[in-house]
Amino acid sequence: MFCEIASGRQPARIVYQDDLVTAFWDIHPQARVHILVIPNQHLTSLREAEETDPVLLGRCLQVAARVAREAGIAESGYRVLTNVGPDAGQSVYHLHFHLLGGNRLRMALG
Ligand SMILES: [Zn+2]
Repeated sequence: MFCEIASGRQPARIVYQDDLVTAFWDIHPQARVHILVIPNQHLTSLREAEETDPVLLGRCLQVAARVAREAGIAESGYRVLTNVGPDAGQSVYHLHFHLLGGNRLRMALG
């Protein structure tokens, strides 16, 4: 499903896209700002990090910071996280980083 968003085959509220990475609003926001940053290339999760180009992983975090700044939450603060596998509650098996902010965040995501 995230492959479809990255390729434009499925609509999403995209806030940033380049040749490596796409960022778009989560359809079930858990904070006032809840944006997902994904590699355009399909990776199941961070479990594949060691076989992945580090530039791609770094770009994901750079884009998270950029999108946070553009969303106006760079100063108030935000959280970037990724869930891996069932115990973490990974919902979509395409690597994605949650960018959360805009209000006080609790320690755990529901
Ligand atoms: Zn995918």
